[in-house]
Amino acid sequence: MERVRHLIVVLGDQLTPTLASLAAADPARDRVLMAELHDEATYVPHHKKKIAFLFSAMRHFADELRAAGWTVDYVKLGSPGNQPSFSAQLAQAIAAHRPERIRVTAPGEWRVLQEILGWEALFSIPVDVLPDDRFVCSAPAFRAWANSRTSLRMEYFYREMRRQTGLLMDGDAPAGGQWNFDSENRKTAPDDLFMPRPKVFDPDAITREVLSLVEARFGHHFGDLTPFWFGVTRADAEAAFDAFVDRALPRFGDYQDAMLRGEPFLYHAVISQYLNCGLLDPLRVCRRVDAAYRAGSVPLNAAEGFIRQIIGWREYVRGIYWLKMPGYERSNFFSHTRDLPDFYWSGDTEMACVRAAVTQTREQAYAHHIQRLMITGNFALLAGIDPHALHEWYLSVYADAYEWVELPNTVGMSQFADGGLLASKPYAASGAYINRMSNYCASCAFDVKQRTGPRACPFNALYWDFIARNRQQIAGNPRMAQMVRTYDNFAADEKTRIGESAATFLASL
Ligand SMILES: Cc1cc2nc3c(=O)[nH]c(=O)nc-3n(C[C@H](O)[C@H](O)[C@H](O)COP(=O)(O)OP(=O)(O)OC[C@H]3O[C@@H](n4cnc5c(N)ncnc54)[C@H](O)[C@@H]3O)c2cc1C
Ligand code: SF4
Repeated sequence: MERVRHLIVVLGDQLTPTLASLAAADPARDRVLMAELHDEATYVPHHKKKIAFLFSAMRHFADELRAAGWTVDYVKLGSPGNQPSFSAQLAQAIAAHRPERIRVTAPGEWRVLQEILGWEALFSIPVDVLPDDRFVCSAPAFRAWANSRTSLRMEYFYREMRRQTGLLMDGDAPAGGQWNFDSENRKTAPDDLFMPRPKVFDPDAITREVLSLVEARFGHHFGDLTPFWFGVTRADAEAAFDAFVDRALPRFGDYQDAMLRGEPFLYHAVISQYLNCGLLDPLRVCRRVDAAYRAGSVPLNAAEGFIRQIIGWREYVRGIYWLKMPGYERSNFFSHTRDLPDFYWSGDTEMACVRAAVTQTREQAYAHHIQRLMITGNFALLAGIDPHALHEWYLSVYADAYEWVELPNTVGMSQFADGGLLASKPYAASGAYINRMSNYCASCAFDVKQRTGPRACPFNALYWDFIARNRQQIAGNPRMAQMVRTYDNFAADEKTRIGESAATFLASL
């Protein structure tokens, strides 16, 4: 076989034609390697829909590259020559093609980067790792920003990103005279609100073949494989985003924090699975939203709320990830060690809010941000669940989960396990918050108004028990001090009842 110049390794979340490693290559002389790898599908037990989505999107992307003139070696899972790991698959390709160099765009995960950095020594071939330029802020630029500051709050980073991109800027000033409209994004959704639905796609022949493969190989993994409705091509992802802009974005801001029984998506975009594997470009989607605001079809609180999530939170958590890895994955500020309860997998709990979040996660490989943060995350924080076990759960169950984005959200934002590097206070809340932002409590076996006793909402006693347990660590936090004082002012017998209720409930886990 003729010797190839560069072997371009394209990873499963690099499905972007303008990817740095492809942009620097020549289809006439270079060859692309893509592979479905058993080790990557199982290093945590990924949701079946997530595996199917990625394998199908990869197969479609390989076809897109071939149509653009590339020679692509695509190794399907279980096909002859398919290897379990990146390195084993690459060894085989090197033996077949004897490339002069290996080229790869930097992976999103620290673990994979370590493997790639070992390739040069392992194969005695030069390996070029090119920066992933699909983000607004590079890892070195974030590090420089972080090193120049004492506080790493997202808000300041976000303002930098607004200035750098010009999104929602009127000259040097933010559109509407305000950087952040978060306080206008907390409406409770009435039960009879009209709900747009994310765009659904019928599985084509490629997806149907992948669905059979996933059922055969990973049938025992968590989650429902069908109905499978995700888009799997760039055109699908763009159509899904267009549908969101037309139908849901105008009210995205108002109901960003709301939760409703039987409504898994509300006014959310449901595009993170497309963004994170490269089918959608983050800056492009933000420019489109900016244009919709300028055209008067989207209010400012919606446009700003959406753009903040992407060039603010999404870029920021990636920066934190690369700043703090390795080691960040073992953060455990509160020394929490409790096992993850079985109901995180089964949904079998009387708590209506937790049951709803887990059930829709099983069905859709999706839950929106407030469900992840204030239901499953909040419960784990109050119950003292080991943050690493929780991290592995979040990484497994969502179609959009990759460690660079999931880990800071779980360990930093939802569990405060980094001691406040990312969040200014623990996102701990009692049942009152859930009752205010959702209609779950009306159908729950527990009473959200009761603080203690067998029928009291477990979030209530657990919340105050969390405050009592961790008062040393949180009393100095100005945003928690009031809650500590409130607890201190409870009568002694109320404190005893709180402790007993929390202990009884935790023992029942
Ligand atoms: C514990 C926990 C774990 C999470 N794990 C992931 C994960 O593995 N992958 C992931 O993409 N997001 C994760 N998030 C962030 C957020 O929940 C999802 O991005 C969002 O729910 C995706 O749904 P959507 O596309 O409908 O988002 P929308 O609410 O419509 O927001 C639009 C986009 O903004 C971005 N975004 C919003 N919030 C965040 C955030 N906090 N961090 C990064 N990007 C954000 C996403 O790209 C999202 O698609 C997590 C949040 C928490 C609290
Ligand atoms: S009463 Fe408590 S457990 Fe039940 S839905 Fe409301 S917050 Fe959740």
